[in-house]
Amino acid sequence: MSEEKSLNFLEEIVADDLQTGRSTNVHTRFPPEPNGYLHIGHAKSICLNFGLADDHGGKTNLRFDDTNPVTEDTEYVESIKADVRWLGFDWEHECYASDYFPKLYEFACALIRKGLAYVDDSSSEEIAAAKGTPTVPGRESPCRNRSVTENLELFEAMKTGAFRDGEKVLRAKIDMSSPNMHMRDPIMYRIRHVHHHRTGDTWCIYPMYDFAHGQSDSLEGITHSVCTLEFEVHRPLYNWYIAKLGIFPTRQFEFARLNMTYTVMSKRKLLQLVQEGFVDGWDDPRMPTISGMRRRGYTPLSIRNFCDRIGVQRRENIIDVGLLEFCVREDLNRIALRRMVVLDPLKMVITNYPAGQTEEMDAENNPEAPDQGGTRKLPFSGELWIEREDFMEVPAKKWFRLAPGAVVRLKNAYIVRCDDFVKNEQGEVIEIRCSYIPESRSGQDTSGINVKGTIHWVSAATAIRAEVRLYDRLFNVEDPSAEGDFKNFLNPSSLDIISQAVMEPSMAEAAPGDRFQFIRKGYFSLDEKLSHSGHPVFNRTVTLKDGWAKEAKKG
Ligand code: ATP
Ligand code: MG
Repeated sequence: MSEEKSLNFLEEIVADDLQTGRSTNVHTRFPPEPNGYLHIGHAKSICLNFGLADDHGGKTNLRFDDTNPVTEDTEYVESIKADVRWLGFDWEHECYASDYFPKLYEFACALIRKGLAYVDDSSSEEIAAAKGTPTVPGRESPCRNRSVTENLELFEAMKTGAFRDGEKVLRAKIDMSSPNMHMRDPIMYRIRHVHHHRTGDTWCIYPMYDFAHGQSDSLEGITHSVCTLEFEVHRPLYNWYIAKLGIFPTRQFEFARLNMTYTVMSKRKLLQLVQEGFVDGWDDPRMPTISGMRRRGYTPLSIRNFCDRIGVQRRENIIDVGLLEFCVREDLNRIALRRMVVLDPLKMVITNYPAGQTEEMDAENNPEAPDQGGTRKLPFSGELWIEREDFMEVPAKKWFRLAPGAVVRLKNAYIVRCDDFVKNEQGEVIEIRCSYIPESRSGQDTSGINVKGTIHWVSAATAIRAEVRLYDRLFNVEDPSAEGDFKNFLNPSSLDIISQAVMEPSMAEAAPGDRFQFIRKGYFSLDEKLSHSGHPVFNRTVTLKDGWAKEAKKG
């Protein structure tokens, strides 16, 4: 990009560190916990971490923060790798915090030897009760002054399985009256007799996040450890462990997490939607997950552009989901192949078109990129499908589409006049009868007739049937997490399944990953999971315009 971009505060810090020599290189990491699928908030963190390194020829590790054996799974590890790659990033090392368990154990022993850690027999309730409050100092545990030898023996016994879950913990010996609650002898290790998805049954003690994260950063030589704001209060502890251990001095920096309107963004909540069947899996196209967005047809570039546009702040805010949709439209407008698809078909018979005749019309694949898109042939005949909503028996004011006596252009083809229509016994219009103007063929029009409306159509004889899925927001309030159960705010009409759409024949070649603009209907792509031979299913990625902005204006 030639346009001059101002640096965000993290980019400024990194640039400054390099300039002053505080850092000689840039090494960042993206550290997901493999307990769910990645969402658009993670994309912000990914773009930020990889971006900070890329800007200076640095490196980024992908580190699985798998210190909590209970909630983690290899399915999540695989999905996370696929999602980061799909977004367009390549990591330097694939790391697992669990690979550092032996090293972390040694670090813990080192702190014990320095008199900076002790084994506590207190129960979690006792520990919580003795913690104090931000204004009332905590009470020291009776175990706090155990000898180094005894602590080493007990910690070793914790490791070899001599105790049950919860019977003992290892705590850092810091300051029970610190104004920062995280410094009041935080727990370093707890006992959990559970299977870990990578280390199996090797360990029955597991390090707490605070004791694992900074040490993992340090072991990997991470220069700038970027995390979200809630960890700001953990920073003194992060620095304490690194200082007391005398290991590589990674520094932690915090930024505001991404919140987005009409969306929930915590893995815990997304997991509930999956487990309770409100959506069809983590990759349901309505989910704010990377895999959901991929399935829905969002492009990696549009997500990266979105992350670029929202920038990085130090204060929490909420981003309009419309901005993400704008970025998706912007990219798709550039690349999508234009296609004729009728979602709600109504038969049109052209009474003066020679029986049995067909023609081929030339149609551009993408007028926004004519040199890339080229053209295709569209078969035309005397029997077409048009969109039911393009006909009105009794036209409204300023109606420029079809009505008895009205004239429209069939896109890429002829001008037609509606002469008549046919109703069934229920009084529904089932066919409209038109005559065409032979001299009005698109590109060779000598008719001199001016029409105000242009509609899309599909020739009936060669039409392909398809299922089309239209999505709306999953929640019907801006901030579903603001109060009460977020599931109370699920939008009951977030999915509209159209089982009998008709498409032009070129759509037979549609492949996963192709992007289409169904003319006048929005951007669509093939759903790889639901489609099978003879039954294509298309997802609407995004509408052509922001329908919600329009609604909002109407008031
Ligand atoms: P969640 O609350 O959704 O479970 P998390 O923070 O527990 O998120 P992690 O897997 O621990 O999820 O996150 C990996 C990285 O992504 C962390 O550095 C975290 O700060 C960052 N991250 C998570 N959610 C967001 C968000 N909404 N915006 C920006 N960064 C995020
Ligand atoms: Mg987390």
